[in-house]
Amino acid sequence: NKRPAANAIISPDFKFEDMGIGGLDAEFSTIFRRAFASRIFPPGLIEKLGIMHVKGMLLYGPPGTGKTLIARQIGKMLNAREPKIINGPEVLNKYVGQSEENIRKLFADAEKEYKEKGDESGLHIIIFDELDAVCKQRGSGAGGGTGVGDSVVNQLLSKLDGVDQLNNILLIGMTNRKDMIDDALLRPGRLEVQIEISLPDETGRGQILKIHTSKMKENKVMGEDVNLVELAALTKNFSGAELSGLVKSATSFAFARNIKVGTMAGVSEEVVNMKVDRNDFLNALNEVKPAFGADDEELQ
Ligand code: ATP
Repeated sequence: NKRPAANAIISPDFKFEDMGIGGLDAEFSTIFRRAFASRIFPPGLIEKLGIMHVKGMLLYGPPGTGKTLIARQIGKMLNAREPKIINGPEVLNKYVGQSEENIRKLFADAEKEYKEKGDESGLHIIIFDELDAVCKQRGSGAGGGTGVGDSVVNQLLSKLDGVDQLNNILLIGMTNRKDMIDDALLRPGRLEVQIEISLPDETGRGQILKIHTSKMKENKVMGEDVNLVELAALTKNFSGAELSGLVKSATSFAFARNIKVGTMAGVSEEVVNMKVDRNDFLNALNEVKPAFGADDEELQ
């Protein structure tokens, strides 16, 4: 009984709450249902249904909202190979002249494993961050652009079209500018599942803050006066990455409050026993600001 999926199984250690993703339950479920669920179908089911696995998807939305986090965690959940991550501007700048070679290399391990093991191969996830950077250049070769983008996108397209024969690859493109992505990449069979990952709402921010303060809470270094519900309300427009930055900034205020000038060389008792309290978070709020204008009422 040949297993049509590329051997993806839910890792026995998987626990949703351990994923460390806040405020994206609905997005996570949709991504899982549309792009990954077929990977864990029982043997024979995908053939009965007459469908093929999704080979590419696009996650789009503001920076720092957890796109990479989701991709990595789903990979872990499915026991996929460690994802390969490539970044648009890097491809254009660092590897001018050898971008096609780099794209080829990206797919090489998966191709090799598929040749050897067929559908028993592990799932290979390729994350292409800032995908818009290569698309911007496409078609601009004659007009003074480098033309590198053209060849990168063409190479990606040919790889995606070619992976029909390979069941073990999922390419995840990421961008803050979906409008910049070449339409050719978004067609069925290519980056066909497109999911928006937006800034978290207040509930989501509370969940993200909880995740990023869980260690300090567990270790009893979070002041009792810290109220995450209050902080969630005060952090409108913050991305997950910015919330994580806020927590870090708060810890730096707690540290500075406790360290005695002149004792920098030795760690004082106070620092060892320090707690991060509400006031440290309020100071942090003056320091860490969201990239998307907090005054812009249209943004959530
Ligand atoms: P970019 O578009 O800049 O590549 P991204 O959307 O891929 O950003 P990540 O790299 O996933 O963002 O997020 C950066 C970090 O911010 C994460 O490693 C995590 O610490 C924190 N973070 C972002 N979003 C979340 C979230 N929803 N829940 C918990 N932590 C988050």
